[in-house]
Amino acid sequence: MAKLYFKFGAMNCGKTTMLLQVAHNYNENDKQVVIIKSSIDTKADNEIESRIGLRRKVDILIDHDKSLEPYFNQWKKQDVACILVDEAQFLSTKQVEELWIYSKIEDTPVICFGLKTDFQSNLFEGSKRLLELADEIEENSTICSCGKRAKFNARFINHEFTLEGDSVLIDGSQKEVEYKPMCGKCYVKKKYNL
Ligand SMILES: [Zn+2]
Repeated sequence: MAKLYFKFGAMNCGKTTMLLQVAHNYNENDKQVVIIKSSIDTKADNEIESRIGLRRKVDILIDHDKSLEPYFNQWKKQDVACILVDEAQFLSTKQVEELWIYSKIEDTPVICFGLKTDFQSNLFEGSKRLLELADEIEENSTICSCGKRAKFNARFINHEFTLEGDSVLIDGSQKEVEYKPMCGKCYVKKKYNL
């Protein structure tokens, strides 16, 4: 049985690099993959870009309110070996369910890479459904500026920590927005001003 995977981690933990590596490995063995990204992520338009500079065009840039089902026949015809999703936290509940169904009915692995929680430490819509449905869940960690394992994503506006604003605010969309991975201790100290 093919599995639905959710590989999550804080910002900058190398999720996109991992995705590109998996795609490369399949392609080297003459197997096709499909790379999906939500159109909510406006970074790099219809490409995905890893922090170490690798880039690749996505096959499907999907809108939040669109279904993935119309692609199913095409994937079957092309004998796609694996479906890869970048920034999977932005998928809708329905899109996650569609991918889950596809993995089971067509016996094709679906690997979703993304964040678990937003800057206020709440689950994203896509991540919530992935945590509920995925056959395998894996956490990849990165490091806080203090050296500890980072699990939280802190939002900074004009270099100031903030808990204000919408859940989705893409870094780079406005010059002053950036995200930093933080360990629990640093995040709590910032959040509660301790
Ligand atoms: Zn820390």
